[in-house]
Amino acid sequence: MTEPLLPIGDAVARRLAGTPLVVMLDVDGTLAPIAQRPGDAEVPLETRRAVSALAVASGVVVVLVSGRSAADARRMVGVANVWVVGNHGYETIGPDGETLIDSQVAAYQPLIAQAGRRIQPRLAGVPGVIFEDKGWTLSIHYRLADPALVPKVRAALEETVAALGLRLTEGKMILEVRPPGQINKGTAVLTLGRSLGAFTDQGALVFIGDDRTDEDAFRALRSRGKTSVTVRVSDEETTSTAAEYWVRDPSEVRVFLEGLHATRRRSGHPSHPG
Ligand SMILES: [Mg+2]
Repeated sequence: MTEPLLPIGDAVARRLAGTPLVVMLDVDGTLAPIAQRPGDAEVPLETRRAVSALAVASGVVVVLVSGRSAADARRMVGVANVWVVGNHGYETIGPDGETLIDSQVAAYQPLIAQAGRRIQPRLAGVPGVIFEDKGWTLSIHYRLADPALVPKVRAALEETVAALGLRLTEGKMILEVRPPGQINKGTAVLTLGRSLGAFTDQGALVFIGDDRTDEDAFRALRSRGKTSVTVRVSDEETTSTAAEYWVRDPSEVRVFLEGLHATRRRSGHPSHPG
């Protein structure tokens, strides 16, 4: 059973009172309302303020976890002093701008480029399909395409992926070509969460996401027991999810982040001055 996250109850507040508190946030559909074209999506100003307040709060670490490239996700949210896990875990940018790429992932870059060269011309004639080369992965957005054409697009991608030994995954109106092997938001949040100290006795973690790829993170975090707080953004309460809690939309995410910040201030975790 998934429970509503708002208003923030004592149980959730207690679980998120630890230090460090690691706040992991998906971007599209979680901080930014979904837009017709990925390039049009924006994080509202009030949401940026809420993320920024947490990012400078004492004992809090903010991590953006996106399917976008890490640089793109960082640009879009536009808040300093955050970690960014991009490309579903294939790349990470630290708060000082240093980029970390998994060596296994880097080895597949030439094959991903080759897949892009094969796929792009085959999609050129399909109206409404947006092809995006993210370096370590490829994204094919079909929100604006005629649904009748999507099976053809999928078949073309499946053929290329099989020929090159790559992997095809699906999200909201998006197909993605990725290297083989198990790197996803689940493995990424466990790796970074561990290195940030979220899973120590004193640490705490909350993860919020809205899509199928976020379910990997919910499952991974819940497999560690009832310490991390997992939240699915969904306009339907009945959406099947591995998350423990749900909120309705990105504006409720913002309300939660503001409330979380206020709760920590009240309980004596001061913000950094300035
Ligand atoms: Mg999302």
